[in-house]
Amino acid sequence: MKANCTCTLLKSEKNKIIIDTRTPWDGDSLITALQQQNIKPEDINYVICTHSHSDHIGCNYLFQNALHIVGKTCISRNDLYYDYDFKDNHVIDEYVKLITTPGHTSECITVLVQTQEGLIAIVGDLFEKKQDMDDEELWKCCSDFPEIQEESRRKILEIADFIVPGHGPMFKNPNKT
Ligand SMILES: [Zn+2]
Repeated sequence: MKANCTCTLLKSEKNKIIIDTRTPWDGDSLITALQQQNIKPEDINYVICTHSHSDHIGCNYLFQNALHIVGKTCISRNDLYYDYDFKDNHVIDEYVKLITTPGHTSECITVLVQTQEGLIAIVGDLFEKKQDMDDEELWKCCSDFPEIQEESRRKILEIADFIVPGHGPMFKNPNKT
C-alpha cells in the first residue's frame, strides 16, 4: 500500500498555518509548493498535525519558528513541551479552532476553519477520502476505534460544509445543501 497525506495551508493576516506535513521524503516538494504561495518555511507560525502517524508529521522539522501541535496531547516549540489540557477544543484565532475527533487514533484532532464559503473541516484520517462515505471498509480498515470514529464522523457531518480528508481532495458534505 502507498500512502501520503493531504497537506493544507491556511493563510490569514495574523497566522500562517500548515496542517499535516506528509512524509520525511516530501521536504523539497513542500518547500516548492510554499514558494508558489510566496511563503518560506520560517514564515509558518503553526504546525498542526491531526495525529502522529508518520505520513502526517514527516516534514515538521522544516518549520522551526512554529508552535507544533500534534494530536491532542503534544504541543511543543523547540525542546519546550507544554502541559496543556486540550479538553474538547482549542481556539487558534477568530477563524480557526481545533476539536477532538478520536477514532482513527485516540489522539486525532480536526481543524475547523470558518470561511466565507462555509465551515471547512480538515479532518485527517477521520475521513480517508470522499469514497469512504459509500464504502466504510476504506476507513474502518485503518481505524483503532471504529465505533468512536463513527461517532466523530457523525459529529463532523452535522457541522461542516466542506471536508478535507486525510488522503484525498476536499469534498462537499452531502448532508448540506
Ligand atoms: Zn493515520
